[in-house]
This record gives sequence, C-alpha cells and structure tokens, in this order.
Amino acid sequence: MTKKERAAIAIERLKKEYPDAGCTLDYNEAWKLLVSVRLAAQCTDERVNVIVKDLFAKYPGVEALAAAEPEDIEAIVRPCGLGKSKARDISKCMRMLRDEFGGRVPDNFDDLMKLPGVGRKSANLIMGDVFGKPAIVTDTHCIRLCNRIGLVDDIKEPKKVEMALWKIIPPEEGSDFCHRLVFHGRDVCTARTTPHCERCCLKDICKAYPEYKKQAEEIAAKKK
Ligand code: SF4
Repeated sequence: MTKKERAAIAIERLKKEYPDAGCTLDYNEAWKLLVSVRLAAQCTDERVNVIVKDLFAKYPGVEALAAAEPEDIEAIVRPCGLGKSKARDISKCMRMLRDEFGGRVPDNFDDLMKLPGVGRKSANLIMGDVFGKPAIVTDTHCIRLCNRIGLVDDIKEPKKVEMALWKIIPPEEGSDFCHRLVFHGRDVCTARTTPHCERCCLKDICKAYPEYKKQAEEIAAKKK
C-alpha cells in the first residue's frame, strides 16, 4: 500500500469517526484566533478559552489590544504559562496588524508568517480555519499519529512532516484531517499511555499496530 493510499483510507475512516471535528479554540473573529493560538503553546485549549474571555472583554478589538501595554496583557494571560513572551508576541502582533495590515488578519501564508509569534503551525491553522484554504497543521498529535500509521517514516521535525504530508494528502482535506488526528490522538492513539489499538478504526492499515498488539499480548500474558 502506498502512503497516498494509506492516507486516503485514514482520511475517510476518521471522517466517519469524528464528523464534526474542528478547532477546539473558541473564536468568532480571525484576530482572536491568532491570539488564542499563541496562548495555546504549552497550555490546554480549554484553559485558553477561559482566559481569553477576560482579555477580549477588556480589549475588544485589534486597536484596543495593540494600544495595551504588554505588562497589562501579561497580567491577564499569565495563567496560560510563558506569560511574558506570549504577552510580548501578542502585543507586537496586534501592533503589526494595526500598522501594516489595516487592522485585518492577512489571508496569505507569507504575510501570516511575518507576524510575531506566528510559526508554520499557526499560519496553517489560520489559513485552514479562518480562510478555508489548504492547510496542514503539524502539531504533536499529527506528528505522532502520522509516524505510527506510516504516513511518514520516522520524521519528527514539524516542517518536514508538513512537507511530506502535502505530497500525499489532497489539499482540500488537510485542515480537517489534522483536526481529526488531534481528536484521535487524544481519545485513542494516545501519547502518555499505550495506544488503545483494539478500538482504533485504523488498525488494519496502521504500520505500528502489529508492534503495539504484540506489546499488549505480552503484558496480558505476564498478568496471567
Ligand atoms: S492502531 Fe494503534 S498505533 Fe495505530 S493509529 Fe490506531 S491506536 Fe494508533
């Protein structure tokens, strides 16, 4: 089976498993997603969704947030961790939106990458979720699952995984597929426990399944 064929099957199976999977950060405007994505680094989306309520209540637009002092932003976002650097990036990013992009979030990848605190993962997320354009979001779940399933071979670097996936995933499927990998990675193909392969809809096409199956059988045998 080629990687492309494996990817096509994985895309369809995960569509059935998680039909409504989407971004788990709450937002109703593009600039808010930009802020939340920065805050989500090393923090849960649930926590970010709570913290931004206070932030957006106090600073309800790009202008207001751009005018805020980084220290005042930090005071609100500190519970997300890395408060100082996140507040600094958010401040610089909002000021650049105000001064160079007319207060609007740019709808192309290259301009998104110019924004402070925005890397490939965030730029892809905005491209896919806000603008409905082709996107591959290589977060930790995507990287782990793509290696296990066999869509990439022992590639851990996010940009390299992204580039490999562009070759095998139809562009219009990329954004949703990556969201579904996050759901599958949280529920089934977990990072911190042995993956729950027996209830995985991908086990017949997953390259790692035989190894995990063997491990599970050995553990069961020891318990007897
Ligand atoms: S079979 Fe196991 S390792 Fe493979 S994707 Fe499913 S849960 Fe992950």
